[in-house]
Amino acid sequence: MNKIDTLKISNYDKFKCIADKCKFTCCEGWDISVDNDTYNKWENDKSNNILNNVKIKRYEGKDEYFINKETNKACPLLDNQGLCNIVKDHGENYLSLTCQSFPRIENVFEDRRELSLSCACPEVLELIGRETGKTNITSESNTSLESNVLEIRIREAVISILQQENFLLEDKLIISFQMLLTILENENLRKDALLEELEKYKNRDYVKELIHMYKGMKININDSIEEVNNLFLDIVENYKEVHLFHILLKDVVNFAENTKIKKLSSKWNDYKIIFDQYNAFIENCIISKIFSNCISNDIEEMIISLQMIILEYLMLRYSLFLKYCVDKEINEEDIKNYILAFSRIIGNNIDAMMEFIRDGFGDDVLEIGYLCFIALA
Ligand code: SF4
Repeated sequence: MNKIDTLKISNYDKFKCIADKCKFTCCEGWDISVDNDTYNKWENDKSNNILNNVKIKRYEGKDEYFINKETNKACPLLDNQGLCNIVKDHGENYLSLTCQSFPRIENVFEDRRELSLSCACPEVLELIGRETGKTNITSESNTSLESNVLEIRIREAVISILQQENFLLEDKLIISFQMLLTILENENLRKDALLEELEKYKNRDYVKELIHMYKGMKININDSIEEVNNLFLDIVENYKEVHLFHILLKDVVNFAENTKIKKLSSKWNDYKIIFDQYNAFIENCIISKIFSNCISNDIEEMIISLQMIILEYLMLRYSLFLKYCVDKEINEEDIKNYILAFSRIIGNNIDAMMEFIRDGFGDDVLEIGYLCFIALA
């Protein structure tokens, strides 16, 4: 049997949790799940009293549990300094798998194990912010990164498009999405024909031609901004009162609710020049998300993952636009804060987002025309 290679995303080994010093602790603002083995360990170990201090509920129809708290509230196992009582009393190994591993993500394939990091953690964003080059995944044994696994080859093509220089990020995201849709439409294509199709997207001129084609679409900037404004308000509706996000969302939501779209649109082009200065950092965050999440042997799942990453990007861009309109400026700290917020609101909430998209658009996958309408203004 061949030895499985381990690959790690840039900065993987540098990550260190800052616990009580973290301003966006992962112990607050979402559900905290407890795997079956950890639950049984806690229940059977009578010398420990974890289950006396916290109520645990079972997910319906699953062998998995969660800590019974309001989604937006902090974990009841945190002490008043923000430190975890389980870690203090019993050590890290006593935590549930989710708490032990976050923000680390592991994906295992037939020929490799990949370790990456979630952008829902502020320390991960700090590490990406210090990078001077492009985010990448490298092999521990320095062997060839080539893989025969089809989904890895497809993901490589997405990353190749996104790392092309001198194209706008939104253009590259649309072309990546279109490539995945093309693969879905031609699902019965033989593997060699599919790989040939993927190769086309590694060619800069081919990508340029496609971008040119989409750029030819006539998009009314007022209509597009009005749609994004409504989408933004719908997506953040359940989060604007969540303690962790309140400070980020309060002013921009208030502004979005009361704004005049025409006046807002007149500031869009100036804002985009400022926003584009942060492209290299945002691109690295998107690549990091693609490595972690945009990987499945079901092409529709892969499309949905990319769709969520595109929505996160559009919500980041728009919330910063609102912030720019309110404060007349944005800075790197704002970018990190909103990347983190939408990584949690959208990226870590796929089921709720899917329901939202299905209810609003009648399908799990958005039409490319609609994505162009909201992305390419
Ligand atoms: S979000 Fe990251 S840095 Fe903050 S407590 Fe969680 S793992 Fe630690």
